Amino acid sequence: MLEPLRRIVQKVNQAPDLEQALEVIVQSVKQVVGADVCSVYLTDFEAREHVLQATDGLDPRSVGTVRLPLNRGLIGLVCERAEPINLDDGSQHPRYVFVNDTGEQQFRGFLGAPIIQNRKVLGVLALRQRAPRRFGDDEVNFVVTLAAQLAGAITFARISGELARLQDANGLPNHFLQGLAASPGLAIGTAVVVYPLADLDAVPDKAIAEPGAEAERFLGAINDVAEDLEQLSVRFSGALSLEDRALFDAWRMMLESDVLVDNTLARIRAGNWAPGALRATICEHVKVFDQMEDGYLRERGADVRDLGRRILMHLQNLSAQPIAYPPATILVGEELSAMQIADVPRESLAGVVSTTGSGSSHVAILARGLGVPAVMGVGELPVGRVDGREIIVNGYRGRIYVAPREAIKTEYRQLIEEERVLTSELEGLRHLPAETTDGHVLPLYLNTGLVTEARPLGIEESAGIGLYRTELPFIVRDRFPGEEVQMNIYREILAAFAPRPVTIRTLDIGGDKPLPYFPVSESNPFLGWRGIRITLDHPEIFLTQVRAMLRAAIGLGNLRILLPMISTVGEVEEALKLIKRAHAELRDEGMAVALPPVGAMIEVPAAVYQVGSLAKRVQFLSVGTNDLTQYLLAVDRNNSHVAALYDELHPAVLRALMEVVDGARAEGVEVSICGEMAGDPLAVVLLLGMGVHSLSMSAGSLLRVKAVIRSLSRARARECLTSVLPLEDAASVRRRLLEAIEEIGLGGLTRPGR
Ligand code: PEP
Ligand code: MG
Repeated sequence: MLEPLRRIVQKVNQAPDLEQALEVIVQSVKQVVGADVCSVYLTDFEAREHVLQATDGLDPRSVGTVRLPLNRGLIGLVCERAEPINLDDGSQHPRYVFVNDTGEQQFRGFLGAPIIQNRKVLGVLALRQRAPRRFGDDEVNFVVTLAAQLAGAITFARISGELARLQDANGLPNHFLQGLAASPGLAIGTAVVVYPLADLDAVPDKAIAEPGAEAERFLGAINDVAEDLEQLSVRFSGALSLEDRALFDAWRMMLESDVLVDNTLARIRAGNWAPGALRATICEHVKVFDQMEDGYLRERGADVRDLGRRILMHLQNLSAQPIAYPPATILVGEELSAMQIADVPRESLAGVVSTTGSGSSHVAILARGLGVPAVMGVGELPVGRVDGREIIVNGYRGRIYVAPREAIKTEYRQLIEEERVLTSELEGLRHLPAETTDGHVLPLYLNTGLVTEARPLGIEESAGIGLYRTELPFIVRDRFPGEEVQMNIYREILAAFAPRPVTIRTLDIGGDKPLPYFPVSESNPFLGWRGIRITLDHPEIFLTQVRAMLRAAIGLGNLRILLPMISTVGEVEEALKLIKRAHAELRDEGMAVALPPVGAMIEVPAAVYQVGSLAKRVQFLSVGTNDLTQYLLAVDRNNSHVAALYDELHPAVLRALMEVVDGARAEGVEVSICGEMAGDPLAVVLLLGMGVHSLSMSAGSLLRVKAVIRSLSRARARECLTSVLPLEDAASVRRRLLEAIEEIGLGGLTRPGR
């Protein structure tokens, strides 16, 4: 039955609307299984009825008119049980109900399969036979598989309002599609769907006679792309700050990297034509990124692929057809690239929606830089069907509405207006201290290192850098960067912020983030060889990095070193020994290096319960709430299947944080929070109440967090913390915090719309 199944699935996917998809299903299933009737009933949740939505075998006039109360008949039973029901004589079953209007007379054989999406039963695919018939296992599996296929199409029809129109139930609210909140903000606009122009995967290998000319052609294409980037960067000079435009430098770095250029040239020299050589290089490079567990690093693969397509486009002399972008364009794509965003005139770009990617995609980073709302990873969105449709983007809650109803649009227009007022108020906070109403200053630092080595976003606003992640320079190269290379990178960032402190974290790479030149294969990488574990096992890597950091700070004196993934006291002691050794060696070499403050990250539950012992050995602590939440709740931070379970406001996470802050206080050591939680205005109320000493976050969160701090006293924050501690789940904590933030008049910061 595999072949008919494949054929039907293909036809369903090609159907232009739900009605035709259902027609395809009922006709094909009836024919393949040889049943007398095949019908689809869909649940109308508002009316609490199952509606006959398509049939082959019953009276076609009954479609849309036959409605069964939710709990009646065999259809109701399939829904209640959420499993297939196969009866050789359904008419004998106590739940059997005879429906007159369908022309349904003496049907005996019955097979019903629930149509389920995300645990919710959306309807039933039902087969009927006049004679008694028990359907075979193969037939049951076939119908169950098709019912699962149908679920996606129905969900889309539901959110786009199509189903409501089919069911003639106007006035019902739209449903939304859930993705990942990637850039805050709200927008209403018109979808413009974009596709990659050149198809790298379709490029064949081809032998060539003259590698020299082919190499020239390739280098010419690299130059062309560099010029494109330059033009885009200039185009954005008005819209993006100088720091934001550093993104273009990151692309240039990638474009001109050894990995891309040298490897392709080597393949050309070996006799492949330029497009084939380019495809092989890009595939190899992307594969390395694809294997990475870390969401941010995996996303860099999309950038590499996109650069590859751009180069190919120039090699093939293709030029992008100019797209007419309507005012309030919502850019939609399957694997949107930051360059496609940059193609849209700034004044026309209202929002960004991608079916793949996450908050750490460059697309998201650029959207945040431009202040444009973005929702990523909306896997259920069939992009082929939304071009030109109206879309609402809710970048706070990571949801979108397609073809929204008037009532929803009115609500969003109102929210957008409130948001505009709030943004101009926030701008007024620039250059004001992050000080509570009772005069306590909570310094706000920046997290950086992901996009560019120098001049990160938000440079003027922050107290310094609270977390500089050093992984990227190791990943974009084809070997470990040497001491000199690292020194220059660190020097740039230290100099840009001096005299403000810059906390540089030692390499946090491992089995989950393999380097192309240092492969690690593990079945459970998050619990494996990563962070400090790997660098202590390879002291030469650690010493080179620390030497580079110490040298970079000569004459600046603003370096702090942070150790990731600490789970034992011994790791801290060993790391300190190596840092002292690097310091002594550099001194012996005649360099005026200073011993910087060293801190440990608290991101493993074991470290929470040994916080006192750790605090005795270091000068500061920094809590990585991203990993701490993942390990405490046993929820993979990058797995969308369990994303709903990942919540930093879980009472267990809050208790762990209290433990850390209290333990550190007893030792007189300062605690900073550097996970995403530090940038969440709701969580900040609790962190302030706990008495953390500083927060470190991405640039986009600075003003919002400052607004919260400036509206609260510490006493108020403590009260709020006390009221939250007895609560037993994250949802109750969030509700309480939302109330608190409304009370201080900052509801707008978190008021995300429906
Ligand atoms: C964290 O785990 O919270 C953290 C800040 O580190 P990273 O996100 O780089 O793992
Ligand atoms: Mg971490």
